[in-house]
Amino acid sequence: AKVTRMGPSPTGFMHLGNLYGALVDERLAHQSGGVFFLRIEDTDKKREVEGGVQLILETFRNFGLPFDEGVTENGDKGKYGPYRQSQRAAIYHVFAKQLVQRGYAYPCFCTEEELAEMHAQQEANKENFGYYGKYAKYRDCELEEIERRIAAGESYVVRFRSPGSIENKVRHTDLVKGKLELTENDQDIVLLKSDGIPTYHFAHVVDDHLMHTTHVVRGEEWLATLPVHLQLFDVLGWKRPKYVHTAQLMKMDGGSKRKLSKRKDPELALSYYYQQGIPVPSVMEYLMTLLNSNFEEWRRANQTAPLDDFPFSTKKMSVSGSLFDMDKLHDVSKNVISRMSAEDVYDSVAKWSADNDPEFHELFVRDPEMTKQFLSIGRGGKKPRKDLALWSETKAYMDFMFDELFQPDYSGMPERAKADAKAILTEYQDVYDAQDEMTVWFDKVKALAERHGFAPETKLYKKNPEQYKGPVGDISMVLRVAICGRTNAPDLYSVMQLMPTEKIKARLAAACE
Ligand code: GLU
Repeated sequence: AKVTRMGPSPTGFMHLGNLYGALVDERLAHQSGGVFFLRIEDTDKKREVEGGVQLILETFRNFGLPFDEGVTENGDKGKYGPYRQSQRAAIYHVFAKQLVQRGYAYPCFCTEEELAEMHAQQEANKENFGYYGKYAKYRDCELEEIERRIAAGESYVVRFRSPGSIENKVRHTDLVKGKLELTENDQDIVLLKSDGIPTYHFAHVVDDHLMHTTHVVRGEEWLATLPVHLQLFDVLGWKRPKYVHTAQLMKMDGGSKRKLSKRKDPELALSYYYQQGIPVPSVMEYLMTLLNSNFEEWRRANQTAPLDDFPFSTKKMSVSGSLFDMDKLHDVSKNVISRMSAEDVYDSVAKWSADNDPEFHELFVRDPEMTKQFLSIGRGGKKPRKDLALWSETKAYMDFMFDELFQPDYSGMPERAKADAKAILTEYQDVYDAQDEMTVWFDKVKALAERHGFAPETKLYKKNPEQYKGPVGDISMVLRVAICGRTNAPDLYSVMQLMPTEKIKARLAAACE
């Protein structure tokens, strides 16, 4: 069984990459009957915002990702806490001390100025930026000097005495990136900052060891420092976890690929999906298409299976950046929504509109039965209608059902029937009967067609187009435009069954004016 974790920082911004990684974590853990836990990486107080942890919890709850252990709304759950790094200082200090005693770490008293000077020297010598060891003033300090400086209250950080050399290569096999050859680390990175707070590098190693993480899933931006992490696991005598470094999400912009950016792309923020009303299952389904190249094929063969049934594998993950495509997400979403029950669509839209469009919400929930029946038109069966991609589209999809929103546009009357439209509508008012069965209803439409020189069946029209003004569809389109105020609407007979007779009559009359 695998143990995975999410380690977000409470910066107040949850992005698509967080969810993408979390989905990998969740699948790896739960597919193997393992544990998926949440650790809050709050070591950088400067970037932390109030309510950041709450936002993390809410976001993952909204996206339906169930953590088994870690930080929860009701405190910590699990045996290996505390799960907030800010509460683990004493634990990091134990291991930092151990490393110092064993000669793998040392206090460094360098001031900002000294560091700047060192960097300037490196630059002048065209040396690898950040290299520290050679210039490390305090690397081999005598114990006495260290004690004296500490007693004098000098500020210091604890640095890792890297056992490696920049001349060496580290070999490592990443579960996504494959066999890697990385430059060994000799940077003497900081383990504890001057306030005693650990850096990500140190905290990650200590926590993932103590919390029994078997698979570390994280963004590829951490590959560069992976050699340090491996060294730390080694000198501490701990087993290295397996790593899954996920590629950055990319997007096409003016013909070229680039990384999604917080500044340019609102869709990077997870809050965007809720505001737009993109259903959670659509986002998850789309992320899976990005994660596993064989997902779409599986979905075609298993149209109604739950997402969890898909045999997710890191072997099918893309090594370079997946291309995020909003149009594709919308297409996926249309499929997802078409497979949902009318009841589920109703509940989702009711919830979304309550938060995002209160005026529409009031109309939408006014007559729940009618709304649900409307939403069930064309639903179910082998080929369900694919109308909606976003909950925000529901209003435009069914606005004509509400007099408050009805704004007819008669310009969509079919060209071939324009001259006859008024006569057709007038005659239809006389024969319209709300009780008519579908066949009777359609017979009346056909009769109207014949009377006005239109083919009562499309087949007939196709055979002899010159004999008719148009097919029967033109006649039903006249009725649809009059009743729904537009050409694009679900099945007209079904719609008419849901509308009060008076409303239909009034609309037919209004269209004749
Ligand atoms: N706190 C890190 C981040 O936000 C987590 C990286 C990891 O999962 O190890 O990028």
